[in-house]
Amino acid sequence: MESFPIWCDGCNQQGKIFVNNPDKPVFVICKNCGYETSQVWCPKCEIGGEFIEKISERPKEWSCPNCNSQYMLPSDFYIKPVELSAQRKSWKKNTKEYDPSNLIRLTLIGIIIGLFLLTTVKSVFGAVTIWVGIVVFVAFMLYINKIKK
Ligand SMILES: [Zn+2]
Ligand SMILES: [Zn+2]
Repeated sequence: MESFPIWCDGCNQQGKIFVNNPDKPVFVICKNCGYETSQVWCPKCEIGGEFIEKISERPKEWSCPNCNSQYMLPSDFYIKPVELSAQRKSWKKNTKEYDPSNLIRLTLIGIIIGLFLLTTVKSVFGAVTIWVGIVVFVAFMLYINKIKK
C-alpha cells in the first residue's frame, strides 16, 4: 500500500488516497464531497498526478501534460474508484504533553532554595517562616500536579 497526497477542490484541502499499485491509473472520488479526480502515472516522464482533464465527461484516454503521450484508460477505470479521504485538519493546540518530571524537578529546586535560605537566617521566626514557605510551596506543587493529571 502506498499513499498519495491529493488535493480536493470540493473540500478545499489536502487529502490522501491509498493504492496498491502506484503505476496503475486510479479514478479518485472524495469521500466527503464527491469531488472526482484522478491519479495517473506517465512512465516516460516518471511523473504522476491528477492529469485526466474533464473527468466528469468520462474520457477514455488521457495525455501527459509534460510529453503529450496518449494513454488509454482501462475499461474498468470508472467502475473502481479509490476513496479520497480528506480529513478535517485537527488544529493541534499547543498542548505540550504534561510531563510530571518537570514539576518534580521544580519542586526539588524550590525545596533546595528553601533549605539554602534556612542556612542564611539566624532568627527562629525566620526559620519557621521559611519552613512554612517550603511546606506551602510543596503543597501547591502537589495541587498543580493533581489538577494537571
Ligand atoms: Zn472533498
Ligand atoms: Zn509524460
